[in-house]
Amino acid sequence: MNAFAQSPVWHPFTQHRLDPVFKKVVKTDGAYLIDEDGHAIFDAISSWWVITHGHRHPTIMEAIRNATERFDQIIFAEYTHAAAEELAQGLIQIAPAGLGHVFFSDSGSTSVEVALKMALGFFHNRGLSRARIVVMEHSYHGDTVGTMSAGARGVFNAPYEQLLFDVETIPFPEPGREQDSLDALDRIGRRGDAAALLIEPLVLGAGGMKIYPSHLLTEFKRITSRWNMLLIADEVMTGWGRTGTLFACEQAGIVPDILCTSKGLTGGALPLAATLCQPAIFEAHLSTDRSRMFFHSSSYTANPIACAAGLANLSVWRNEPVRNCLAKLADMHAERLMRFRADPRFANVRQAGTVVALDLDVQSAGYLSEVGPRLRAFFRDRDLLVRPLGNVIYLMPPYCVTAAELDRAYEAIAEAADFVARPEG
Ligand SMILES: *Cc1c(COP(=O)(O)O)cnc(C)c1O
Repeated sequence: MNAFAQSPVWHPFTQHRLDPVFKKVVKTDGAYLIDEDGHAIFDAISSWWVITHGHRHPTIMEAIRNATERFDQIIFAEYTHAAAEELAQGLIQIAPAGLGHVFFSDSGSTSVEVALKMALGFFHNRGLSRARIVVMEHSYHGDTVGTMSAGARGVFNAPYEQLLFDVETIPFPEPGREQDSLDALDRIGRRGDAAALLIEPLVLGAGGMKIYPSHLLTEFKRITSRWNMLLIADEVMTGWGRTGTLFACEQAGIVPDILCTSKGLTGGALPLAATLCQPAIFEAHLSTDRSRMFFHSSSYTANPIACAAGLANLSVWRNEPVRNCLAKLADMHAERLMRFRADPRFANVRQAGTVVALDLDVQSAGYLSEVGPRLRAFFRDRDLLVRPLGNVIYLMPPYCVTAAELDRAYEAIAEAADFVARPEG
């Protein structure tokens, strides 16, 4: 039976005509989802990349419980609250040095929308006509109309094409063709009408876990500075340790003009996002003229309970050996990936810190590749939550993962290649 026959719920990225009835998850614990049949499913993709330390980290859960004793939502204009103030201070301390202001919202998409509006406001309020946004081929920045405009065009957004605004796209820096990307950015910069380069640092997530080296990010920043464009780092996925450092920008030694963070900001416990910016951007909105204020808000901006979870996450980073965990996890991945590098059934075996990806060598690639659903079912049967992006299999587990759990996932990936090679049936 199909899911829609039993439930009115319309699930995201789900073809209800084809997908099976979804099992109910009744509990989460560490690296696991426990379903209604009592199966412990290994969450190898951190529940769509949000869970960092592990499900229900005790420090974060306790902070949430405590916050609910005093808060629900409060308006965030006219009033402020300690959790937001302390979280903003904490973020500025641990983010690349020089980001001085924090704007709160509630999802990765809105943090990017805020960044785009900050960038355009920055130039508009100074009387400069720079409004073009530059993005990288294969990028993903969210599913709102604005962020879809900035993301790669394809089957995901074809029906909405007419609503999307035009952007400039630089090629992804494929090995051997890095200079093409740099030259394209330089050419666009030289024209003088571009406001910002919006970029996922080091790893392009939903676009296929495509990885590029940090020295190129350093170059991108050099070029945007040269032409007085802003660099917006979309660290929604890469932040909070995923690529091995707290933020991916650290590896390039750059400070973006604007930085977007969300997914791991609360350790994945509650929805919250923050857009950090350099003082000049805030100051361009400072005026005795009210028409120059930053015109943006979400109802749940800086939700106090979510901010308390964010503060607790900061304390986990301060007080627990998270960085050691990241290094260990990166090493465990590297060891286990070795066997796949020589395996002709896989291509582009790659890693950035805690994120690994391999391309299955199949006839039809791309997101709608028919191997996608077959692979998902294959992993589901083994109590593994792995959702390949088309023929791209990736792992992005929570940091509490053990060597034995990783072994199980890698073993299944090795078997999966034989499974999809067999005719369907
Ligand atoms: C997930 C993601 C987003 C969108 O975040 P949502 O919370 O789903 O709106 C934006 N940018 C990147 C790089 C992401 O991975």
